[in-house]
Amino acid sequence: MTTILAVANQKGGVAKTTTVASLGAALAASGRRVLVVDLDPQGSLTFSLGHNPDKLTASVHEVLTAALPVGEAILSTDDGVDLLPATIDLAGAEALLLMRPGREYTLKRALAPVAADYDVVLLDCPPSLGVLTLNGLTAATAVLVPLQCETLAHRGVGQLLTTVEEVRQITNPDLELLGALATLFDARTTHSRDVLADVSGQYDIPVVAPPIPRTVRFAEASASGTSVISGRKNKGAEAYRELARNLDAYWTGGAALQTYDAE
Ligand code: ADP
Ligand code: MG
Repeated sequence: MTTILAVANQKGGVAKTTTVASLGAALAASGRRVLVVDLDPQGSLTFSLGHNPDKLTASVHEVLTAALPVGEAILSTDDGVDLLPATIDLAGAEALLLMRPGREYTLKRALAPVAADYDVVLLDCPPSLGVLTLNGLTAATAVLVPLQCETLAHRGVGQLLTTVEEVRQITNPDLELLGALATLFDARTTHSRDVLADVSGQYDIPVVAPPIPRTVRFAEASASGTSVISGRKNKGAEAYRELARNLDAYWTGGAALQTYDAE
């Protein structure tokens, strides 16, 4: 069974893309077959995995709007994951999809021919709750919500959880809410822990272990478009490897999902 994990939060800058790239690379390094899908017209995931969105002629846009077979758009990367890339064209997909019946199922149907070739598919959702995110949540078997722990402004979380609930009722009854992932976490301050305790208390969702610490290396990696995790011995990369072990044991070993107690 292929696990399709949507990484979603309509807020930008919460480390969705970093999580997809780093978790994907960590799962691939441990021998899993991984596909990552860039659903953001900004193409940050595509860029961070070493491909220039401006130079691509086949991307998720053509797959969703022109029925290009998904296999013709998938690229390999130096991080060991396969990539279904995005270009700025995807910004127009929203409008094109809106005209279609069953628009929320477009990605699910497009991925179907290749899903069985992978153990894990990670979906990097854009910073909105529009048609692309609805496609991600409809195609997914589970959803993970990154929350950055530096600000108390988590009002959007309730709205996202409402959307997840609606998707469950309408297009994807089996969607599992794995929980929140604490990102940009600073264990030295009580502030990060307060933010987490506040969020998990207010919304009653588990926080998946471990929290991902803030490290300067990540900012450098995504700016340069080089490999995110390979060869890097920093605590951010190590945290993503631990997250990969946690999720992998849960998905394939039937272990309980390890959670972080924010209290
Ligand atoms: P999103 O996809 O949710 O918009 P990104 O993954 O692009 O978020 O991350 C936003 C910014 O935060 C990027 O510049 C990224 O390099 C940085 N970042 C993400 N995770 C970390 C981390 N653990 N430590 C330091 N910087 C991080
Ligand atoms: Mg992003």
